[in-house]
Amino acid sequence: MSLATGHPLIAIPGPSPVPDRVLRAAHRASPDIYGYELADLNLRVMAQLKRLAGSAAHLAPYIGNGHGAWEAVGANLFAPGDRVLVLISGHFGHSWAGQMAAMGIAVETLDFGPAAAAPERLAARLAEDREGLIRAVLICQIDTASGCLSDIPAIRAAMADHPALLVVDAVAALGCVPMMMDDWGVDVLIAASQKGLMSLPGTAFVWFSERAAARGRTALTTPYWDWHPRAAADRDSLWRFWGGTPPVQQLFALDEALRILLDEEGLCAVWARHAALARAVWAAVDTWGAGNPDIRLTVADPAARAASVTALSLPGADALRGWVSLHCGVTLGIGLGAQNAANALRIAHMGHANAAMVLGVLGAMQAGMVALDIPHGSGALDAAAAALAEPA
Ligand SMILES: *Cc1c(COP(=O)(O)O)cnc(C)c1O
Repeated sequence: MSLATGHPLIAIPGPSPVPDRVLRAAHRASPDIYGYELADLNLRVMAQLKRLAGSAAHLAPYIGNGHGAWEAVGANLFAPGDRVLVLISGHFGHSWAGQMAAMGIAVETLDFGPAAAAPERLAARLAEDREGLIRAVLICQIDTASGCLSDIPAIRAAMADHPALLVVDAVAALGCVPMMMDDWGVDVLIAASQKGLMSLPGTAFVWFSERAAARGRTALTTPYWDWHPRAAADRDSLWRFWGGTPPVQQLFALDEALRILLDEEGLCAVWARHAALARAVWAAVDTWGAGNPDIRLTVADPAARAASVTALSLPGADALRGWVSLHCGVTLGIGLGAQNAANALRIAHMGHANAAMVLGVLGAMQAGMVALDIPHGSGALDAAAAALAEPA
């Protein structure tokens, strides 16, 4: 017998659950791509994306994913041989550094393990760079593999008056935790549609400041990735935003998703919801861990834990993922980047997620631990329920 029939629960950190309303918005035929209906919809989506990022800066949209946005950063900011400093708190930082190196950029890294980037180590490194050779500091606000959150304003403060640009990957953070791009002095911000934005995979966004725009074009800037024509496009040149045919159905979906986030729930409520759901997950994992020291959260410091995804070690994690999928219809994330990936997993609480979904995921996990004889402390669901019952 399986208990998996019913609405499937996807708790992987991207793609995240898409609201039915957003799916329905995408389910329509393309209008004339030279008409103003679509051009105006596109302008509205661009304006909403700027609100979401807290930015009046330039915005270049791409058909692509997070990796595409990484490449856009490389192609627009750096010439071959330029030096960048990547602050790494997990697998995604390593991957980003690798992609930049493969483009011919001179990559230097500071690795913090599964912990937040330390502003004092950054400040010390930049102080040594008296000639200003480091052209940019790259950081994931949330590293989706470790579930680690870095403090972007503290990183900006540590850069003081060093001329490097601050480039932030917010793919797993935007729409989940605060981001005020302009107020925080972020020069380049990237995100994609399929995580906190609750929309379909396939579009990516790069916001960039006047300072970043002033870098001009480099030997790496190819026509498709060049962000200037995209950011300068207008109502009469819709194709320029997207370097060709716009992703029409994606635009309808994004418009609906951004309306829900910004105009219906409201960003402050969205952030508070993510924080509360995350606290419930951490309370449950801590309680399981009280009965089994091998069950533990990857990020030790509560202040450095992401509100959108939680990584943990758990003996038998692979078997547990299989069990909850087969018997409960719950899909958990793999232990990406973990030292012992078979005994690690990730729980996403990102985007279109509510308290019932999180309790369902935790309850399914506990049932699986009972079925598979994985020792665990008792009372985890009580702890999660108590965390959810706390006023924000
Ligand atoms: C998901 C993710 C990426 C990669 O995005 P894709 O859409 O899978 O290419 C990059 N950075 C972070 C922080 C992510 O969470």
